[in-house]
Amino acid sequence: MKYIIKDILERENYSKEEIICLLKSQGEDRTLLFRKSAEIKEKYIGRKVWFRGLIEFSNICGKDCLYCGIRKGNKNLRRYNLSDDEILEAAKFAYVNRYGSIALQSGELESQFVTDRIENLLHRIKVMSNGELGITLSLGEQEPDVYKRWFEAGAHRYLLRVESTNKALYNKIHPNDDHHSFSKRLECLRIL
Ligand code: SF4
Repeated sequence: MKYIIKDILERENYSKEEIICLLKSQGEDRTLLFRKSAEIKEKYIGRKVWFRGLIEFSNICGKDCLYCGIRKGNKNLRRYNLSDDEILEAAKFAYVNRYGSIALQSGELESQFVTDRIENLLHRIKVMSNGELGITLSLGEQEPDVYKRWFEAGAHRYLLRVESTNKALYNKIHPNDDHHSFSKRLECLRIL
């Protein structure tokens, strides 16, 4: 069947074949696709840009996900961990330059030290920004009371992905010799 891009773009919903056709479009057809996407963006979001500041403060991780460059088994990597002052300085930059929010992200570590450190940083960022800077955390799987403490300290969003909802595939890419389990990931998402 021959698809006409212009006709597809007039619809509200697309079939799988039509989506494939759109993704494969070239030249004039691709220009039409980009124009349509710009139209839709302008209709729903307007001509605005929101800045979000991602602060990747450490690449040290206790897990070994096979697809990840900072997995603990990767020995060809220089590990770093920013100081609290460096993190606060980056957060201040975001606030002063009117970013809507920041995300604090690192490899996954579970310890009392990490819990206390993040809680303390959250309090300090909230004070520094008069509570105006939104804060997202992306620090992996944690115990329920840790999530609660961080939420109460001001982190109102949390980024935790699930790379596959197919248990067999999930287990294949997350070796469980470092206590990485599918059920724990689902439980963390439920708690969050
Ligand atoms: S837990 Fe996250 S940071 Fe650590 S290895 Fe897995 S994907 Fe990478």
